[in-house]
Amino acid sequence: MEFLFLYQMKKISLLGATGSIGTSTIDVATNNPEEFKIIALTFHSNIEKGRELIQKLRPTYVGVGTKEIQKQLKQEFPTIQFGVGTKGLIEAATLDEVDVVLTAVSGAVGLQPTMAAIQAKKDIALANKETLVMAGEWVMQAVRENHVKLLPVDSEHSAIFQCLQGQDTKKVRELMITASGGSFRDYSRKELENVTVEQALNHPNWSMGKKITIDSSTMMNKGLEVIEAHWLFDMDYDKIKVVLHRESIVHSMVVYEDGAYLAQLGASDMREPIQYALTYPYREKMQKEKPFDLTQIGALHFEKMNFTRFPMLALAFKVGKLGGSYPTVYNAANEIAANAFIDGKITYLAIEELVSRAVEQYEEVKNLTLEKVIEIDRKTRKIVTAWVKDME
Ligand code: NAD
Ligand code: MG
Repeated sequence: MEFLFLYQMKKISLLGATGSIGTSTIDVATNNPEEFKIIALTFHSNIEKGRELIQKLRPTYVGVGTKEIQKQLKQEFPTIQFGVGTKGLIEAATLDEVDVVLTAVSGAVGLQPTMAAIQAKKDIALANKETLVMAGEWVMQAVRENHVKLLPVDSEHSAIFQCLQGQDTKKVRELMITASGGSFRDYSRKELENVTVEQALNHPNWSMGKKITIDSSTMMNKGLEVIEAHWLFDMDYDKIKVVLHRESIVHSMVVYEDGAYLAQLGASDMREPIQYALTYPYREKMQKEKPFDLTQIGALHFEKMNFTRFPMLALAFKVGKLGGSYPTVYNAANEIAANAFIDGKITYLAIEELVSRAVEQYEEVKNLTLEKVIEIDRKTRKIVTAWVKDME
């Protein structure tokens, strides 16, 4: 008997192809050439890596960061269409043939292409959590109105999403997000005074882009993830908990009213949540799977989060509950501050100081719209950039 497979290859637009998530996504796609094809990609400034990816993937569209890069690559690849900046990101995200947009750019620059993709009825595989923190209300509204899927790539959210499959969401008692604790989890506040960028970039469990690695150490990343979870799963902040779990084996949990804790466990390999977001609701074999042996790991530990040690996590719950554009300010201030630390302009503890100051002195704008939120993001960046200059 013959089987008729009505199978269609998924065509992917990959925003942020040269980054850490971008690289893992390319690995998933090229390991499964019959299932996936990356037909559009974007990158910001790494032309060498960008060129390599174009040669390897032969996309039909490429978005780049500058006109110079565009000019150079257009000469080398005359049959490929190029675009620059936000326009390039939006074009890559809305190409007719694209089925799913994987947003792996770092920072709030992801918002506009993600919104455009949703409006063009593309499904979204979302790594770029900043988009949801900055404008969750508008993004989720657009998702509902356009009947598209917004699938989490962030490992914690993928874990929660997996633990919610087939369950009654009204019976969820709480979402329990695990946190590795980042590079400085055993440092006291005093010891943080003189830490270097190099030390901060040395994450114990995950290899990731620079900004998210800094965010993990300040617990900003977990703060952003709490807000991301609120929007993705439509969950009250009182039902979102964070627990310190050094091994990063349990990627997160969902606790149900009957006392059941459902957890998703696995290796620290972002290809797994990426692949799940791309194959959902199905599962496929993971090619070149990372070894994972619970008997080697032996024991798993869970500790209470210390909100005094990690004030950025406490602040996330505060801005989340305040709602409106407070999370926008929290996110924008952090983007400027974390990057200023990476660039050696400010001290480590100044990151927290700048984010706290931006939130404290912010006065909410009435009758928010998406345009106003984008303006608030821009203004906050300007203000915090000026504060950074004063500190230099
Ligand atoms: P990364 O720094 O390694 O890569 C960022 C990518 O974005 C690069 O391709 C870069 O060219 C592009 N980019 C940077 N600035 C840009 C700009 N102004 N305009 C256009 N493109 C720009 O970052 P990453 O670690 O891959 O993280 C990407 C996103 O995924 C972030 O939002 C992060 O929070 C999220 N995320 C990452 C991980 C991880 O393991 N790395 C895990 C969960 C979530
Ligand atoms: Mg995460």
